Amino acid sequence: MSINPFNHPANEIFSVPVRVSRESRPDMTIVSVNGVEIGGTEVVVIAGPCAVESSEQLYETARAVKNGGARILRGGAFKPRSSPYNFQGLGEEGLKMLSDISRETGLPVVTEVMDTRQVETVYKYADMMQVGSRNMHNYPLLKEVGMLRKPVLLKRGMMATIAEFLLAAEYILNQGNEQVVLCERGIRTFENSTRNTLDLSAVPMLKRLCHLPVIVDPSHGTGLRWMVPSMAKAAVAAGADGLIMEVHHKPEEALCDGQQSLYPDEFAQLMTDLKKIALAVSREISLPQPFDK
Ligand code: PEP
Ligand code: MN
Repeated sequence: MSINPFNHPANEIFSVPVRVSRESRPDMTIVSVNGVEIGGTEVVVIAGPCAVESSEQLYETARAVKNGGARILRGGAFKPRSSPYNFQGLGEEGLKMLSDISRETGLPVVTEVMDTRQVETVYKYADMMQVGSRNMHNYPLLKEVGMLRKPVLLKRGMMATIAEFLLAAEYILNQGNEQVVLCERGIRTFENSTRNTLDLSAVPMLKRLCHLPVIVDPSHGTGLRWMVPSMAKAAVAAGADGLIMEVHHKPEEALCDGQQSLYPDEFAQLMTDLKKIALAVSREISLPQPFDK
């Protein structure tokens, strides 16, 4: 099938067979992140801090999200910050903290890889490699993660069309790595009351065109903590296969994105609410598995 949702002549360039299309694979792909399956009946929630800041911060936050029902831990060690003067992440030290806490909690970890030169290092520690919004068009990086056999979380470029997003995923699949999860994280529009405009219509569109799982990031999608629960619920209602959300044990002290990070109790409440939404659309959300230590 060609990726030409609107049959517009400008999209004719996409009128070639593509691996990401539903036509090339009628069954939905299930992506396994160290045993946690994304794309099945369960709505998989990924949560954790924007950035790994210290082992104490990571431990406290990981414990909170695990107790709330998260299935995968997020946390950036290499951070793509808008300003070069802001905290850039702990690098490999942060990756080590992630893999240690992963072993302790049993939660697989997803973390961003920003550069082809970091791929080998991130591969060693992460269960899933994230290609961020700013790198969705980084074709050498897409090819590099495509050559590995580890799941990839591909975030939509902030100014990418659906076709461009799918073709970015195609770069990864073309190298033989079919374990790709797509993430809608908001696009740039004229609207500036929110950080980005969360394009929830991308969820049914992507799922119609493509066999890969689709998740939503309401944290970067809105930039506003108070709005995250509403958009998370809307995303599940729209058919998302999962969510990725920022949670911090002390958001007011966060070195990155504290304003959009949920408090642990807000996260736990949201998970309870999401479970009901999931059931209403014939999906499931796992119950909290207490982790007390
Ligand atoms: C992130 O998830 O840490 C992140 C930087 O998101 P995005 O690439 O969507 O801006
Ligand atoms: Mn962030």
